[in-house]
Parts: sequence; C-alpha cells; structure tokens
Amino acid sequence: MKTLLWKLCSSYFLLAALILTLCLAAASLLLQQSVISQAQDELAAQARLLRVRLERQDAAAYGGICAEFSAALGSRFTVISAAGQVLADSEQDLHFDNHADRPEILAALAGAVGVSRRRSHSLGKELLYVAVPLRRGDEIWGAARAALPAYLLDERLAYLRGTLLLAAVPALLLAAAASFLLALRVSKPLQEIEQGVLRFTQGSLRHRIRITGPLEITNLAESCNRMAAQLDEQSESLRKQLALLESTFRSMAEAVIVLDPEGRILRCNQAAGRLFSFDPSAAEQRDIQEVIRLADVQQFFEKTIQQGGGATEDIITISAGREKILSANGARLRSESGANAGALLVFHDITRLKRLETMRRDFAANVSHELKTPITAISGFVETLRDGALHEPDAERFLDIIARNVQRLRTIIEDLLALARLEQEEESGQISLSWKAVRPVLENAAAICAKAAAEKNISLELDCPDTLRARLNAPLLEQAVVNLLDNAVKYSSSQKSRVILRAAQEQGGVLIVVQDFGCGIPREHHARLFERFYRVDKARSCKLGGTGLGLAIVKHIVQAHHGAVSVESAPGRGSVFTVRLPG
Ligand code: ADP
Repeated sequence: MKTLLWKLCSSYFLLAALILTLCLAAASLLLQQSVISQAQDELAAQARLLRVRLERQDAAAYGGICAEFSAALGSRFTVISAAGQVLADSEQDLHFDNHADRPEILAALAGAVGVSRRRSHSLGKELLYVAVPLRRGDEIWGAARAALPAYLLDERLAYLRGTLLLAAVPALLLAAAASFLLALRVSKPLQEIEQGVLRFTQGSLRHRIRITGPLEITNLAESCNRMAAQLDEQSESLRKQLALLESTFRSMAEAVIVLDPEGRILRCNQAAGRLFSFDPSAAEQRDIQEVIRLADVQQFFEKTIQQGGGATEDIITISAGREKILSANGARLRSESGANAGALLVFHDITRLKRLETMRRDFAANVSHELKTPITAISGFVETLRDGALHEPDAERFLDIIARNVQRLRTIIEDLLALARLEQEEESGQISLSWKAVRPVLENAAAICAKAAAEKNISLELDCPDTLRARLNAPLLEQAVVNLLDNAVKYSSSQKSRVILRAAQEQGGVLIVVQDFGCGIPREHHARLFERFYRVDKARSCKLGGTGLGLAIVKHIVQAHHGAVSVESAPGRGSVFTVRLPG
C-alpha cells in the first residue's frame, strides 16, 4: 500500500508538472508568434530597403541588386511588376509564372504590406513572404518581396523551445523537492501520531504525543493525548477495583470456586485450596471432579446448575482421618444475554461451629443431669422428713445426706461459675500473665491440699528450684495445681501413698508435674479426660465429691497460659499429669 508521503508527494509533483507544462505550452506559443512576427518585421524592413535601392534604377539592374541583397542578408528577393510578372529574383535560374495571384503580392499591389507563408511554386519548398508596394508617385507599379525559408524559422523556434525545455528541468527538480518537503510537513506529524497511538495500544498510556505542524494535525495529536489520559484514568481505577476484588477474594475465609457450565474451574481462592487440599494456582481450567475428588461437591455443582436459584447444603467430608462439616452455598451465573455461564460455589467450614453446638447441647444435658441427682436426693429426704421422719432416729442421717447434696450442688455451681469466668476472661483477653517465681504458687497449692493428704496419710512432696520463673497468673495456676493435687490425693487408693509435685526448667519452658501412685486411668479414657463432666468411674468420683469439671478447669487455665497439659497413666500404676508452660 502506498504511503501518505508518497501519495501527497506524487500529487503535488504531478500538479506542479502540469502547471509547468501549461506554462511551457503558453511560452512556446508566444515564442512562435514572436519569432514569426520578428521574421516578418525583418523581411518587411529588407523589402523596404530593396525598394529604396531600386529607386532610380533601370529594370536591367534589378537582378543584380536582388542577388547582391540576397548575398548580404541571406533572404530571397524578388521584384514583381503590377501585372504579376517577375522582373528580377535572387534565384536567377528559375522560371517564373505570373505572380499576380500570390496573396502577399495582391496585398502589396493594394498598397499594404503583404505577408504569406506557403509553398513556393518555383522552389518547391515552404517560405515566408513579405511584400511591399513599389511606387512611382502615387502609382504602384510593382512589389518588392523578401522571403525566408520556413525551415529557418522552425530551426530558430526549435532552438528556443529547446532552451525553454532545458530551463524547465531544474524547475521540475525544484518542484519535486518542494513537493517532497510539503508532503513531509503533513505526513511526518501524522507518522508521529501513528507511533504515539501504537505506544498507547501497547499500554504506555502515560506517553504523550508532542508534534509541531498544521493546526488540524496538532489538534488531532492533542485529542489523542486527552483520550490516552482518560483511558489511563479509567484503567487505573479499574486496576484498583480489580486489586481490591482480588485481595478480598484471596483473603476470604470462605472457599470460593467459580465454574463454567461444563464444570471447569475458572477461578478459586486460597481458602478453597486449603479446604480441599489442592494448589489453587494449578487448578484453573481443570475439571472440578479432577481437582476435588468428592462426589458430594460434584453433585452439589450439578444441583446448583439445575436449580437455577441459590442452593444450600451441608456436606460431610473426611480429610486426613478427621470429619469436616462444610456448609455449601451455590448460585448459578448468567451471562449478560441471560445464558447459563456456570456457577459460583462458596464453602464454609462449620465443623467447629457444629462441634460447639453439640458441646453446648451435651453440656446443658450434662449440667441438668448433674444437678438433677442431688436435687432429687434433697427433695426425697425433705419429703421423708415432712412425712413424719423428722422425729425418728434416722432424721440426723437424712439431714446429713441433704447437707452433703447441698454441698455437692454448691461445688458443681462453683466449678461451673469458675469455668464460665475463665472462658469469658480468656475470650476478652483479661487474663494477665507476668514473670514470677513458680515455687510460691506450688507451695500455696500444696498447703491447700495438705489437710486432705494428711487425712489419708499421704505424703505430699514438693520439688521445685527457688529460681524457677515463668510467665504466669498466680491465682489461676494455683487453682490448676490444686485441682491436680486434689485428684492425686482423691484417687490415691492406698494409705501411706505419695504424691509428688515437681517443677523444673525444660528446653523451651517450665514443666510442672503431679504424680501419684493411685488407681491410674485406662488408656482409652486419656483423650477425653479433660472434657467437662467426663469421669472414668462416675460412682467413685461422686463418692469422692468430684464434679467432673476439675480437669476441664485445669485445661482452660493452662490454655490461658499458652501451655499444654497431658497425662500418662496406667491402671494400678498411678498417674502423671504434666503441665507445660512456654518459656
Ligand atoms: P472429678 O471431679 O470427678 O475428679 P476431674 O475432671 O478432676 O473430675 O477428673 C475427671 C476424671 O478423671 C475423674 O472422674 C477420674 O476418673 C479421673 N482422674 C482424674 N485425676 C485422676 C488421678 N490422679 N488418678 C486417677 N484418676 C483420675
């Protein structure tokens, strides 16, 4: 395709060449006229000169004069009588017919200057003739004629035209150069605009086109610049919106998966990758079945596509041996034209929520159950006393039972309150920890349990370096150690047994160990020991005044210290409870 530069340049040049050609044609015409009129004037002057020379001469001398003139001036000279007879001619050897009918002679004989260009009958070639009248007094007795071969005129004209053409060559070259410069003035800024727009399309929207040139073209460049600035602004705001959407998508706790109608993953976030254990960056354009190997998820996708509206379902999965409950929400996506564009699936891991729900339900049932037993006992014995047993010898025993159950209710309620308070303080971050010596805390706990131990003749041994320090909350840690010591004493069956309370610095923290040599706990109970109201032997625990909440309290207190509690125990071999506090 021809460039604008070439098109403009060739158009300008053709126009210039056309104008030049017209000028040349006009000049050539003028030259022709001027050459002819100049030749006519010359011939007329020569004919007049001849006329002057012929005056007062004999007719016999005319031939010599004509020959003399021809030799001097180069023209042909003829003298013709009024009757048309050729009296003399510089071309002497020729035979002449009557010249009266020659146009130039006719005009001269009529008294004017006669001019004619025609073929000579005598010479057989084209000549330019100019004749003037010959007078004697008022009478015209003949005509003097001068003639020039036409080819001489043509040669002169050709020479002049050649010179003119030669002069036209530099003019044409000049026109070509001017055309090129003019075309360049228009095409160059347009080329620069084209380059600038190309850079815009390649994404360099901050680039600006700077050109000088005709107003229309600089205006065009300015408009392009404004358009680029607007596009830049719009793309910047789009980019920000996209980045915001992207970061929202990435940081969402919910797993989000966008699928096309065939079930290929179009987008998914990190949470989806975590939940279903796949790499989100490698999942796009892959089939959902291939990426998430769960039939329920596939079925849920199909249900969402078929249903059209929103779909909701709880999906239970087993991942790494653990049960997970997912709340799935799906919505079918529609394109602008209303066609099916796939589906958006959102999964939320509600395992913890469900577990909490179950725990709350169980807890309420457990609390009611725990409270029901002493209340039933109390109301039963109150009834018995009312029914007349008040004055019987057993009345004292009944009252003891009532008092024991009231005490039991109080302990349960106190433990429940302690747990609730712990949970609340833990959640609101009210539990303050500070670096303190561990020994005084253990000494206090041991002192509290000393009486019970002494009653069972159990020796309570404390082994803790004075220098041992940990980040702790003294009243809470004391409470935890009391609970552990209390259990150790309670479940030490034999008299003269030992309970060891030991604390030591360990790599990365402090260990507090409570060891007894009592009944021990079978392995299958270890995992659930720290749950509320969990007891290995309910009857025995109740008999010993246990609520089933002691270890749950210990677990919460240790958690508040960012530590961990564990148990090692075997039936008949005693138990070792270990509390680890971070350093
Ligand atoms: P309880 O008030 O019944 O003692 P805990 O929560 O303190 O409740 O303990 C839960 C259960 O763990 C107890 O019922 C008991 O069966 C068992 N247990 C706790 N500590 C010991 C221990 N040192 N020796 C044997 N069994 C223990």
